[in-house]
Amino acid sequence: MRVHLGEDVPDTDVRAALKTGDLGFLHSFTTGSAVDGPGIRLVAWTTACMFRCQYCHNPDTWTLRNGIPVTLDQAIGEVQKYANGLIAMHGGFTLSGGEPLMQDRFATRLFAAVKRMGVHTAIETNGFYADRVTDDELRDIDLVILDMKALTPDQHQRVTGLRNEEVIKFCGRLAMLKRPMWLRYVLVPGLTDDPDEMAAVADFGASLGVVERAEILPFHQMGRYKWERLGIEYKLAQTNSPTNEGIEKAISIFRSAGLDAA
Ligand code: SF4
Repeated sequence: MRVHLGEDVPDTDVRAALKTGDLGFLHSFTTGSAVDGPGIRLVAWTTACMFRCQYCHNPDTWTLRNGIPVTLDQAIGEVQKYANGLIAMHGGFTLSGGEPLMQDRFATRLFAAVKRMGVHTAIETNGFYADRVTDDELRDIDLVILDMKALTPDQHQRVTGLRNEEVIKFCGRLAMLKRPMWLRYVLVPGLTDDPDEMAAVADFGASLGVVERAEILPFHQMGRYKWERLGIEYKLAQTNSPTNEGIEKAISIFRSAGLDAA
């Protein structure tokens, strides 16, 4: 768990960083990921998030200053080190979080630089701040992996603390621009396993016409210790992971909507 790593950065520098993107706050880099987009990925994990998902397994990424301050040039240099290998392995670079678009200037400038290297780019996002990104900037992102928490606004609020009109709007925009998407859905018994809600998410995803695959992510308790160490109330302490049967049922709902789900 990482906390307070950017604590010494003065407020004025943080504000300037958010405005220009010259500086970003990153939790870490991971090399060799096979689950954050096509092929083998280099993943940069940003800090800061506006949601408070009950099932979040990285609550230490909620706070911007928990991340390490990294200049844009340093981040570009880090990707450059792996660029040839990523291209050779048909992989790429993924920006995840936290929520990467909390640092939208840093994210968009980093994506533009990575695209110029000829490396495939992907973002893992909750979509809430997507209106901060122009259509041109979106074209530097080859794949949007959207974590859909719910379709109905009340359920979205229950899961994340915020409503989802902006997320829905973003999905419509991706469809209009014909930008490729993957859709992710975290399956939590008693919280997100209502078949009607899942069917609504799946039907909505299918209606967009740009969702290449849907991934059901079974809830797990691996992030529990972080909630405890951060002293945040963790409502899912008694919640089990979904059963294989529950996972298969969820996958079949997404498949019934016409999505390539796993
Ligand atoms: S959007 Fe992601 S990082 Fe933010 S609270 Fe939800 S699960 Fe955690």
